[in-house]
Amino acid sequence: MTPLPVVPTADGDDYPPLSALNDLLFCTRRCFMHRVEGVWVENVHTTSGTLDHRRVHASRDAEVSGKRIARALPLVSHRLRIVGVSDLVEFQPDINGPDVPFPVEYKRGKKRKWDNDEVQLCAQAICLEEMLGVVVPAGAIFHVKSKHRRDVSFTPALRKKTEDTANRLHALLATRTAPPPVLHPKCKQCSLHRLCMPELLTSQAAYRKSATNLFKAE
Ligand code: SF4
Repeated sequence: MTPLPVVPTADGDDYPPLSALNDLLFCTRRCFMHRVEGVWVENVHTTSGTLDHRRVHASRDAEVSGKRIARALPLVSHRLRIVGVSDLVEFQPDINGPDVPFPVEYKRGKKRKWDNDEVQLCAQAICLEEMLGVVVPAGAIFHVKSKHRRDVSFTPALRKKTEDTANRLHALLATRTAPPPVLHPKCKQCSLHRLCMPELLTSQAAYRKSATNLFKAE
């Protein structure tokens, strides 16, 4: 069996987490507020997600049907300049060579319309490839509520999107100005909604009215 990877820590200390890629694809402004301004607000979605991840990470590593299961495996890619912790990696035996890692990411909700979860999973695969020197062709997303496991192939298009997103993330982290809000139905689920105020900042009229009221005598 392939030994579990040893994570090189040198030079990786300042890398942003893999989850920032997911954040960036959800909303650039939210990613900036989290990673540059250090603003974090919990809501039911973030708390449930954190608890789900904790439960998976707390389970013991095991061997099931000849497959080794590793949980909470530290990950790093010096090429993408990101770090993370996997929820679960199955090491699938291969008679022609070393075990093939198969990362599994746990998500609370159902499959979303956009592919930010797939990009986050693909970034884990790129980390494993760099750390172990093997090809990781596929992984899976496990939807906790429905208990549905969905396989994801790491196609050239998904790999390119993951690399492009990592580049965008580093460019965003180097800026000092928060991107403006873009009002979208998903703002309603966003834990930063009250601080971001997208309805106010995207409407000139609402902004002027609020600014006037701010200095009005009672
Ligand atoms: S409320 Fe909307 S625009 Fe603001 S950070 Fe959240 S998703 Fe982005």
